[in-house]
Amino acid sequence: PDGSGRIAVTMQIDEDRLKLTKDTRAELFSADLFSRAVRIDLGTSNTLVYVKSKGIVVSEPTIVVVESSNERKVRAVGDDAKIMLGRTTEGVMAVRPMREGVITDFDMTQILLQYFTRKAVGSSYLVKPRLFLTYPCSISGIERRAVMEAAKYSGGRKVYLVEKPFAAALGSGLPVFDPSGCMIVDIGGGTTDVSVISLGGVVISHSIRVGGVKMDEAIINFIKREFNILIGDRTAEEVKLDLGAALPIREERRARIRGRDMVTNLPQTTEITSTQIYQAIHEPCSAILSAIKWVLERTPPELAADVMHNGIYITGGGSLLYGMDQMIASELGIPVLLAKESMDCAALGLGNIIENFDLLQHL
Ligand code: ADP
Ligand code: MG
Repeated sequence: PDGSGRIAVTMQIDEDRLKLTKDTRAELFSADLFSRAVRIDLGTSNTLVYVKSKGIVVSEPTIVVVESSNERKVRAVGDDAKIMLGRTTEGVMAVRPMREGVITDFDMTQILLQYFTRKAVGSSYLVKPRLFLTYPCSISGIERRAVMEAAKYSGGRKVYLVEKPFAAALGSGLPVFDPSGCMIVDIGGGTTDVSVISLGGVVISHSIRVGGVKMDEAIINFIKREFNILIGDRTAEEVKLDLGAALPIREERRARIRGRDMVTNLPQTTEITSTQIYQAIHEPCSAILSAIKWVLERTPPELAADVMHNGIYITGGGSLLYGMDQMIASELGIPVLLAKESMDCAALGLGNIIENFDLLQHL
């Protein structure tokens, strides 16, 4: 009795639990009603922003250009910053704030997130947006916290993190809630994430710090070694997109590349063949294959059988490398499918989350 004649009943635990799910639901629902939920796929190479009823509104490189003397003075972000990469004048520097799936420059990440969020929803909102972000499953608790903090500082009212492979699987339209295993491999710029998903959760996952950027570095090293020519990151990426392949190409192709001769220090051009580029990027490609094998070997037998049957889905920019799907399929004897909209699917997956209440429990 509480003195007023009534009897106070305590149902602490149950009520709390009820309240939590109710509140979260209502909160998330209202978040979407007013379009104040912003979904960000923060990648090492590219950042995508998804807003309900608009779709993907930002898809730009993860690069910031600031003044060297005052890092708060931002010159350019995203596309504009990429053009300046490797061509900045004195007093200005271009920063890639993420490396291998991890934040290496906290302040710059925050600036980037703030800029892209504003670009997506404008800064006129009185209420700060809720942010949904992806993160690679390999990163440590501290690194995950850094993502969370950067998003909060950038103006997020509340931040939710979703595992990258899960978002990618959802965005590729895989039946993630079925009692059947499916494997998804996200080959991004800095990391490759391999996971098996079943019944709405990640059963097993593995992430290696190898992706498109490692391929670019391998090309730079190859050209340095074979031709004594130093080329920039951008040139290396262009060569990869142009000639790169995970399998030897039957009809050999050639391209001219420009760089700096390491002996004379003068500009120099040379011709390079697709076979040479294939050799140069062979190592990172095998590392990706090994990561997939590693997961397959540790997948419970029933789920492994499902993967054999359903095939392996590959997504991310690196999955677009010529012959990547065939290489994995022929090495493992499992069908490999290139996910639709492979560079966008993680962002699209985040977009699906609120629309599907079942997903809430996974946040
Ligand atoms: P992240 O999510 O880590 O930012 P993305 O999924 O956006 O990465 O992929 C970016 C990487 O994919 C870059 O290294 C880029 O060079 C590479 N990439 C994009 N298109 C292709 C292609 N057609 N062939 C090979 N690599 C590609
Ligand atoms: Mg990505």
